[in-house]
Amino acid sequence: AIATPRTYVNEVLALVKAKNPAEKEFHQAVQEVLESLIPALERHPEYISHKILERVTEPERLLMFRVPWFDDKGEIQVNRGFRIEMNSAIGPYKGGLRFHPSVNLGILKFLAFEQVFKNSLTTLPMGGGKGGSDFDPKGKSDNEVMRFCQSFMTELQRHIGPDTDVPAGDIGVGGREIGFLFGQYKRLRNEFTGVLTGKGLNWGGSLIRPEATGYGCVYFAEEMLKTVKQTLEGKVCLVSGSGNVSQYTIEKLLDLGAKPIACSDSNGIIHDPAGIDREKLAYILDLKNTKRGRISDYAEKFKTAKYIPVDPKLDHNPLWDIKADCAFPSATQNEINAKDAKNLIKNGCKVVSEGANMPSTLEATNLFLEAGVLYGPAKAANAGGVATSGLEMAQNSARLAWTREEVDHRLHNIMIAIHKNCFETAEKYGKPGNLVVGANIGGFLKIADSMLDQGLV
Ligand code: GLU
Repeated sequence: AIATPRTYVNEVLALVKAKNPAEKEFHQAVQEVLESLIPALERHPEYISHKILERVTEPERLLMFRVPWFDDKGEIQVNRGFRIEMNSAIGPYKGGLRFHPSVNLGILKFLAFEQVFKNSLTTLPMGGGKGGSDFDPKGKSDNEVMRFCQSFMTELQRHIGPDTDVPAGDIGVGGREIGFLFGQYKRLRNEFTGVLTGKGLNWGGSLIRPEATGYGCVYFAEEMLKTVKQTLEGKVCLVSGSGNVSQYTIEKLLDLGAKPIACSDSNGIIHDPAGIDREKLAYILDLKNTKRGRISDYAEKFKTAKYIPVDPKLDHNPLWDIKADCAFPSATQNEINAKDAKNLIKNGCKVVSEGANMPSTLEATNLFLEAGVLYGPAKAANAGGVATSGLEMAQNSARLAWTREEVDHRLHNIMIAIHKNCFETAEKYGKPGNLVVGANIGGFLKIADSMLDQGLV
């Protein structure tokens, strides 16, 4: 006899925890997805008998390698490199590379797992993967970053390719790193292909790719607000982080008449009640992207703003205790805990659209859903980044380049389609308004059915 969906999910969850000890972020991501799939398993017992959940939680292939490089003092440094090829049911592995000292197997497995369902939601044919290193680009010279990237790619190149696995950026990997990685791939393979996305515009990159995650996250918030006949016009917004996702979230919020009043970095928070306008945003872009500086400089320059340094002793993030209508967490995983969620709800926050991957803990997510917040989970709300990577791949294959308008139009339509899919799937599976259920089931069905079509894979 086959197990009931509830027992099956509990069994697989226990198995995942036993097989991947101490990988707490991976456990968290798997638990959130598996529990929300119960209504789908009730209608599709074949997923249970074919052990689809045991299979989607096990990476197809997992690579770990040594990355040795010389620093500017001529000393040898050794980092660890990873690539997780999670699932290729619907296309070549696709997903970013993260360079950050916190990177480990558990974090990359959670990211790769999320990526599978996110990519499925984009409507484009991309499987899921993720990779990176515990290398910290912060404080390194351009030459050090280059030597690290060259060493990293020297190993990675034998595992990737435009029809096999197509990496991109994530935290710590931007245009500079993609450039160094691409240069090394080309030297070693003697081929010019779309093997990476987020490339420079002169050499195969797509317009709107840098903007895409932030723009998409705001388009998603706009779609959620439409369901209650509202717009972003005049809405006060909190944006965490000050990297690529935050920057273009702020830009699109300004385009749509909203008022962003906060952003942050790992050292502290900027609270600017007067609003972050275009001039201030241009300052942030130059500070972060060109000077690679800290956001604390903002408060020196613009006297309307207050700087709140991070206090590691606090059990919450003061950024989420600022009164606002909407929150765009765009920094990193688990940046909103239960206390933060309660603070946001208490202060009347009505919209949460996630630009970072898994920025809310399980408890925080459930609090948002119970409070009736319009909650856009990361794998739906931030899918615009990877969707536009898919558009970059399409342009590379066709050997042409679309205009800004063309790419933005496609991105916008994809975000509308993702929201529609999540909204309608939630309704169909008996959880109206619950976009967590909508996103997880919506992304999962395509993967599960493709795996069934392809035999025991
Ligand atoms: N790192 C981004 C994400 O989390 C983008 C990945 C990509 O473009 O492949 O989806």
